[in-house]
Amino acid sequence: MLEVTEIYKSVQGESTYIGFPCVFVRLTGCNLRCVWCDTTHAFHNGKNLSIDQIVDQVKSYGINLVEITGGEPLLQKEVFPLMESLLINKFQVMLETSGSLSIKNVPKEVIKILDLKCPGSGEENKNLWENLNHLASTDEIKFVIADKVDYEWSKKVLQDYKLDKKIPILFSPVFEKLKLKDLTEWILADNLPVRLHTQLHKYIWDPKTIGV
Ligand code: SF4
Repeated sequence: MLEVTEIYKSVQGESTYIGFPCVFVRLTGCNLRCVWCDTTHAFHNGKNLSIDQIVDQVKSYGINLVEITGGEPLLQKEVFPLMESLLINKFQVMLETSGSLSIKNVPKEVIKILDLKCPGSGEENKNLWENLNHLASTDEIKFVIADKVDYEWSKKVLQDYKLDKKIPILFSPVFEKLKLKDLTEWILADNLPVRLHTQLHKYIWDPKTIGV
């Protein structure tokens, strides 16, 4: 059994898959408490579902792309057989993770979107740097940036680890905290080889709407 907050159909609001129809499986629970977290409803009180029940519900939407998210989806050990089951059923599977738990045993066919937690999240010390060794070129790294300090930190990490040579890099502003325009201007001033990123769903629907 897995504890699940919600399963729903939407467009992918983030990553380089932005805009594609996608089914989201949001697992309950998170080991972090980012100060700007927009998913606090996933911290507690999910519903227990078996892997078969989850896969059946995902199938019912008739969409091939599925993202497992949270909370922190890797907290629940059964997420591994869930990913295997979705792959066996021929889904294209994405996993969004905070990067604080090991991704080593995530099936290689799964597209991993790894957050690196900037200082402004309050959770910078939870980054599991060893995860960078387990990323494939099909995976992506996302920095959620609250201010100029976060931006400079992200730029240094990018350069120290030569990340842009290996993998798509997403720089995303904390919604309603950092202006998209400011982040854009910083990226352009530095000619940074990163993808400016935003949470598309917050522009389509009311930003506080959940399950979209
Ligand atoms: S890792 Fe994600 S779900 Fe957990 S507190 Fe941070 S933003 Fe919220």
